[in-house]
Amino acid sequence: MDTTCSICQRHAPAEHYLCVACQYRLHTWLREIPQHLPLLQDLLRPGAGPAQRGGAGRAHSPLPVDIRVLDLLGPGHVVPWVDAHGDQTGGVPLEPLLYGWARYLASELPSVHRDAHGTVRVQPCTGPWSRRGADVPAWCGWLQAYLPYAARQSWAPAMYEQLEDAVHRIRRITHTRPRTKAMDAPCPGCSGFALQEREDELHISCTVCSVRLTREQYTDHRAVVMPGLVRTALLMQARRMSAA
Ligand SMILES: [Zn+2]
Ligand SMILES: [Zn+2]
Repeated sequence: MDTTCSICQRHAPAEHYLCVACQYRLHTWLREIPQHLPLLQDLLRPGAGPAQRGGAGRAHSPLPVDIRVLDLLGPGHVVPWVDAHGDQTGGVPLEPLLYGWARYLASELPSVHRDAHGTVRVQPCTGPWSRRGADVPAWCGWLQAYLPYAARQSWAPAMYEQLEDAVHRIRRITHTRPRTKAMDAPCPGCSGFALQEREDELHISCTVCSVRLTREQYTDHRAVVMPGLVRTALLMQARRMSAA
């Protein structure tokens, strides 16, 4: 039975709440978040960045650090997933956000072990544990490992939206955006030169119409259309030269 992705409304594999493209995006965000940490921690140093509040004639001194960075790196409470669309998600720091999802995911996973008599016991997991520690990179790695399981759960869209929000908050501070590359072959849907590859996307997408291609599909499409385009360009150039 096929299902629909709760995020993009496209086709998702059976019994999944997220399609492969949205799973891929989630995976790249979890890989991206730890890469921002050195810069965010740098911005926590007093005087490292411009003051975010105050102005001429203010009653209080400006804050020495960007309050948005404190919101991301400071301590905080784990957010229950049922509050995904509530007010509580705004400003939740990274570590409790990631640990909260790891803990929630672990609480649903069955833990299997043999007791002293050799009998197999299945019981709920007591909590997430990572060999890499209990910081942001550790929980990002942990959640990446369990993404295939998470994508099949009804709360996967809530996790997706909260992590998307966190990534956007980080990118606004670090002034970064995913690298993009304009592709040279025209779009098979609208014929425009509007196909774009983005590092956090599984597909190469058209910025004009709804066409999207896997990298393999693009390579095949390019192999078919480019020789004709190059021939046309050479012919036009030859005509221009003979007319001159
Ligand atoms: Zn999707
Ligand atoms: Zn197009």
